[in-house]
Amino acid sequence: MYGIEYKNEIILIDAGLKFPDAHMNGVDYIIPDIRYLLDKPQQIKALFLTHGHEDHIGAVPYLLKHLSFPIYGGALTIDLVKAKLEEHKLTNSVDFHIIQDHERVSFQHLSVHFFRTIHSIPDAFGIVVDTPYGSIVHTGDFKFDMTPEGKTADLHKMMQLGEKGVLALLSDSTNSEREGQSLSEHTVGKSVLELIQQCEGRVLFATFASNVHRLQQVIHAASECNRRILILGRSMEKIFSIGQELGHLHIPQGMLMDMKEIHTTPHHQVIILCTGSQGEPNAALTRIAAGSHRHVQIFPGDTVVFSSSPIPGNIIQVNRSIDMLMRSGAAVLYGAEYDIHTSGHGSREDLKLMIRTMRPKYFIPIHGEYRMLVSHQKLAEQVGIPSNRIYVLNIGEPLLITKYHARKGRNLPSGSSFVIRGKVESHEPELIDERNRLAKDGVLIVALVLNNETCQMIAGPDLISRGFVYVRDANELMKTAESHLKSALYGLEQKKEARCEIWEHKISEVLQNFFYSQLQRTPVIFSSIHSVSHPTQVKDD
Ligand SMILES: [Zn+2]
Ligand SMILES: [Zn+2]
Repeated sequence: MYGIEYKNEIILIDAGLKFPDAHMNGVDYIIPDIRYLLDKPQQIKALFLTHGHEDHIGAVPYLLKHLSFPIYGGALTIDLVKAKLEEHKLTNSVDFHIIQDHERVSFQHLSVHFFRTIHSIPDAFGIVVDTPYGSIVHTGDFKFDMTPEGKTADLHKMMQLGEKGVLALLSDSTNSEREGQSLSEHTVGKSVLELIQQCEGRVLFATFASNVHRLQQVIHAASECNRRILILGRSMEKIFSIGQELGHLHIPQGMLMDMKEIHTTPHHQVIILCTGSQGEPNAALTRIAAGSHRHVQIFPGDTVVFSSSPIPGNIIQVNRSIDMLMRSGAAVLYGAEYDIHTSGHGSREDLKLMIRTMRPKYFIPIHGEYRMLVSHQKLAEQVGIPSNRIYVLNIGEPLLITKYHARKGRNLPSGSSFVIRGKVESHEPELIDERNRLAKDGVLIVALVLNNETCQMIAGPDLISRGFVYVRDANELMKTAESHLKSALYGLEQKKEARCEIWEHKISEVLQNFFYSQLQRTPVIFSSIHSVSHPTQVKDD
């Protein structure tokens, strides 16, 4: 999420979510920390969305729970946000505006206009914020494609912006490490058709549901090859209905089949268009691969096409899916050799072209991991932006631009918030650390009963393992730990220590040291101390 602030006006651009790394146990999503905005809600004039991918719109429902502002975006983007709000059962009335190509949205000091770009989803826009000091351009995610599917990019407007002068350019860095120019959608369309023409059995085609142009290519290939399409996956169904409504998808009559027909239609007449190109555990293709889909199973002779490239964090699960599909007898086509996928992000030549076109005074590489931002920074230097005018910013680090110069400001309250089972939790590394320890080393529960008058143990300590050791194999070890602990706690009995927290601390310290020395492991120790004043009621069994 980016913000442009001038006097009493803040313009927000995009509000996305990030998927957690594998070590963030239990975290569903990561969304921006909005503390800075919560302090000045009145100043937020609008949120402008560059396009409808999750990493650009996913946090909108969470923002709307605390803030209210009009939302501007392309038609598809707005429809996707609306569907998202419905999923979240958010009923507050939101002021939505669909961006028109030549529209200008003006506020007291700032005004905003747009230019169409090419990306792996229709209705992608670059956003221009005109300020009293000059124009700030946010490219959104983009690539240059001279033979795209659907609408073309507004190259003319981009050139005009460059002619007029751009104060600062914020540009997509995702593919800044990739040489050359990104493959055209047209080339992919041809490959998809040729590939499906060669298949004899069923084709299972997996791609991102939001890649509407790719879906259209599959529809075209199906029609050319006399095949019909079965759609599998909730997000795929949703995009088919929205895409058709907005005129992005053109589906010949009779092209779509329902689940019942799949069993009676000859294999050479079937394409199953499904989610799961990233190996997502609950997606249709993953369940088919695992043999757990209720209606569809793999037959020898099936061809599965992964029209996608795995996001780095998903490589293992994608490979697992591919293995399972191959084991079931399917031919699986994936990877760069087939030209069945192209990135929606510009490679180095595209990025250079954007910088050269915009000729900005200041350059800010955005969107990507840190090394990609740095690689984009070097690229900008190569095309003539002086290094002292390029700013690689960390989250929360503002760039302060005045009439004559720019400098990094002091960090704003910022960071990431975690979404855990639909609830937003502030970023607490301790919580995640603890979960990781639980996952790695398990938990050891210590139960004992303490007479709080005499400070003597009258039952326990009993050690119970959950995910730490398999008790049947570690009986001896647990017994040794128990007696070791007992003698350590004897000291507290002698001191007549009645405070439970001191007992807990001692238990934790003794067992952590013991198990680390024995097994080099540090389970989470949980003490359950039952303190009683009438020991006769307690029976030690
Ligand atoms: Zn995108
Ligand atoms: Zn993105």
